[in-house]
Amino acid sequence: MNFDTTKEQEELISKVDRVCKSIRSFEELCYIEDRLNEKLVPEFSKIGMLGCPISKKYEGLGYDILSYCKTLERIGEEGNSMRTFFSVHTSIGQMILQGWANEDQKKRYLPATTSGKSIMAFALTEPEAGSDPSSMISAYEDIGESYLLSGKKHWIGNGTIANVITTYARDKTTGKISAFIVDMNSSGVTRKEMKNKMGLLTIKNAEIYFKECRIPKQNLLGDIGQGLNIAYSALIDGRLSVAAGSIGVMKDCLNETLHHSMSRRQHGSLLAKKQLIQQHISRIVVGIESSKWLTYRAACARQKLHDYVEQFKLEQKQWHSKLNRDNKIYSTLRNDADRLTAIAKFHATNTAFDCANRSLQVFGSIGYQKTARVAKHFLDTRATMIYEGANEVLELKIASEVLGDNFRAY
Ligand SMILES: Cc1cc2nc3c(=O)[nH]c(=O)nc-3n(C[C@H](O)[C@H](O)[C@H](O)COP(=O)(O)OP(=O)(O)OC[C@H]3O[C@@H](n4cnc5c(N)ncnc54)[C@H](O)[C@@H]3O)c2cc1C
Repeated sequence: MNFDTTKEQEELISKVDRVCKSIRSFEELCYIEDRLNEKLVPEFSKIGMLGCPISKKYEGLGYDILSYCKTLERIGEEGNSMRTFFSVHTSIGQMILQGWANEDQKKRYLPATTSGKSIMAFALTEPEAGSDPSSMISAYEDIGESYLLSGKKHWIGNGTIANVITTYARDKTTGKISAFIVDMNSSGVTRKEMKNKMGLLTIKNAEIYFKECRIPKQNLLGDIGQGLNIAYSALIDGRLSVAAGSIGVMKDCLNETLHHSMSRRQHGSLLAKKQLIQQHISRIVVGIESSKWLTYRAACARQKLHDYVEQFKLEQKQWHSKLNRDNKIYSTLRNDADRLTAIAKFHATNTAFDCANRSLQVFGSIGYQKTARVAKHFLDTRATMIYEGANEVLELKIASEVLGDNFRAY
């Protein structure tokens, strides 16, 4: 596998780099003031970054998954808050539609999301159903021309600004869980910002309430009963994006640590001369390198799955939802992507948190201030060990792959 950055990727990353630099000071201000960064969408829209891996057919940039990951790596240097916007809008938002929606749904929804006119979110988690979404309470009933959905979701990233979301609910009669595309201006949908978050302060999370919300039949995503399958497939993309962003966080921690340790003197010499400080630096370097290769490898596995699904749709003239576990090629590719992204996310988020902690330690008291970049990374990386599959749950997933089905922990 060759992960060298191509000329095309370099050009894309340099555009992303320019936007990141142009809004860096505003992002930092918003972070301190705990408010939404309202420049993010308009500025990144100008370079088409609101649809980086989305096909040109739906007005995206049409980049492959590894290239997209490398842009998230760059955005991650600005912090997980900014990167989380893209993970939600694109990775677990648009990419579900690209993979699972039928042609009519893609045409109705994707172009507006790639231009930035419409923002996406992914609403799976409920107060009583976090790591175990199969225990969700939100329910729908078939009332002829539409579905009637009631329930509550919480912690929904981009939830305060989203125009379109995918959500998941069980059939009141059969208990089967299905996925739906919901316009946030539908009657029966309300939302409330979740305050007092510890980090990730420039994007906002919301509680979303559905009270007998009418969803047109044409907005069922996939088939009846495919909800969890769709949600779990979205999480493959979500985890990959978190792993990619974590690499950027570690790179920024390294830059900050090098700069500080090579300018601050204590006990007669620069901090960078001290052996214990060098240990922190070397651990950050190892974190970056190891996470890079795990993430890039996972991105390639995800690309193979994508290519197979697209080929299947072309040849069979059927959309993704007709693929099932009996298709050996599909299930092997999906298992590989699932396992490798879980490993990458688990490793990259744990190491990013460790690196942020080490950077903060090197900064000493200066790092223990809200305005310090390393303090922001410390607070934000903590969330990445919880969302998109808490790391314990990913460990169990990784172990069950080698132990086999008889040893599933849950
Ligand atoms: C900042 C943030 C953003 C989020 N964004 C979104 C979003 O956009 N959309 C969305 O749908 N959700 C979102 N979430 C929700 C997130 O996905 C859940 O928080 C996560 O799945 C964990 O669920 P929980 O918080 O209910 O914890 P719980 O499921 O209650 O778990 C608590 C702890 O127990 C551990 N645990 C659970 N089961 C087991 C087990 N079998 N064995 C061992 N340990 C176990 C977990 O790993 C965790 O450490 C977000 C959460 C946060 C914090």
